[in-house]
Amino acid sequence: MSNAPTADERVLSTLNADGSRRWLKPRVSPGRFLFRRRIVAYVLIIFFTVLPHLRIAGKPPILIDLLHREFTFFGTTLYPTDTLLLALLGLITFLSIFFLTAMFGRVWCGWACPQTVYLEFVYRPIERFFEGAPGHKPKKGAWRKPAKFLVYLVLSFFLANTFIAYFVGTDNLFQWMQRSPLDHPIPFLVVAVVTFFMMFDFGFFREQLCIVACPYGRFQSVMLDKNSLIIIYDSVRGEPRGKKKRSSKPTGDIGLKVVSGDGLEQKQGDCIDCKMCVTTCPTGIDIRDGLQLECVNCAQCIDACDSIMDKIGRPRGLIRYGSQASVLEHHKTSLLRPRTMLYPLVILVLASLFAFVWVTRSPAFVTIMRSYGAPFTVMDDGTVTNAVNVKIQNRTPTVASYTLELVDIEGGTVVASGDEYIVGPQETVERPMLLEAPVSAFPDGPRMVTIKVSDGKGFEKLIQYRMMGPANAQAESKGDGDG
Ligand code: SF4
Ligand code: SF4
Repeated sequence: MSNAPTADERVLSTLNADGSRRWLKPRVSPGRFLFRRRIVAYVLIIFFTVLPHLRIAGKPPILIDLLHREFTFFGTTLYPTDTLLLALLGLITFLSIFFLTAMFGRVWCGWACPQTVYLEFVYRPIERFFEGAPGHKPKKGAWRKPAKFLVYLVLSFFLANTFIAYFVGTDNLFQWMQRSPLDHPIPFLVVAVVTFFMMFDFGFFREQLCIVACPYGRFQSVMLDKNSLIIIYDSVRGEPRGKKKRSSKPTGDIGLKVVSGDGLEQKQGDCIDCKMCVTTCPTGIDIRDGLQLECVNCAQCIDACDSIMDKIGRPRGLIRYGSQASVLEHHKTSLLRPRTMLYPLVILVLASLFAFVWVTRSPAFVTIMRSYGAPFTVMDDGTVTNAVNVKIQNRTPTVASYTLELVDIEGGTVVASGDEYIVGPQETVERPMLLEAPVSAFPDGPRMVTIKVSDGKGFEKLIQYRMMGPANAQAESKGDGDG
């Protein structure tokens, strides 16, 4: 027997008082919200699965290319040099989440979060298929559990590949699939690890991710106020709760009557303490205890309670969407309050700034770097050459052809090792080139030169570069550079 101390009461909805895992098997409560959530979930699953296979301007709509440090978002690619744009995008995203939460509570958690969508509408239905639904006789057969996990494994592998596709693109993924894992051990390992985490999460960890691991869940207390839309139990109408017989005449707005042992009629709240709202809750809480961090706003308790209210002939909505102000204090929910005005205002300012930076950003980004080897070479004809690598990032959605010139040295040129410098839309190309100038341009050795890069369509950039040359040009006539 364990000597571990036990708590006086349960401290977490997923733990028993002795600290062991409390496995939750929430009952499914059919109803209007479950129906709508199911439709939303299946649409999102299709969207999430299909998205990496679509192309906008030759790229997936969303590609987080960590290797090349590029972020593509619906036809637009942001690069590491777009630090300001990335920072603004991040701020706008976070503030929008804060704003939506202040207005509509955890609507994201209950309706759109991949954790909820896949757990409640894919993994748990599979579990019920193999093992039986909670509240019903378990299905018999030792093969059922292994079969369930086998289906989980296949599904998790598929999901892991879909997830990875957002980071490497489906083209890479299909290429890897056709080759041995030994040819690409790191991507293979990443898929294996992600599959393992999916299995761990959906097969074991489950609702604990929302309760103890999700940072968004932990922020709730600061993002909600009493006017935010949440799922709430109407304690004014529901209390005092208790088992009761249905009165021949309901007592009006609040409650049913029960006849106590001594024959006196007592007014009761509408809650008959059937606990259907508790046994259906996927995070194992009792919504009647008030707003709780664990509540993911899945609305299952609304569907459960509505069906009970239908049965006992009371109006639906004992548990419903509402704000604390409207349900418990009977005030009108105020839409205009400091945070709901401040958030959109700040978002608007940031979005305008983003649009400005976006419109005025350069259509190309050029980097010129010295190549390995001798810093310069003096040719037989007295020309000094510097080998460089030129990297051009074309940020436009069309193909661009670039020319490079040495503008401040008479007779100076930039020589490419191939034909034109052509770069595809949203692509980056790096090529070796030679800067050439007559030795007479280096009377005092190395000097700054200006390289003009243009695309012939309005883009023009002047880049300062330190070109190496012989220290005593008059004395030199030919020979390699000295280091
Ligand atoms: S489902 Fe409704 S009636 Fe039943 S315990 Fe919950 S709140 Fe009370
Ligand atoms: S309390 Fe209700 S809305 Fe919140 S998680 Fe439980 S069932 Fe879902």
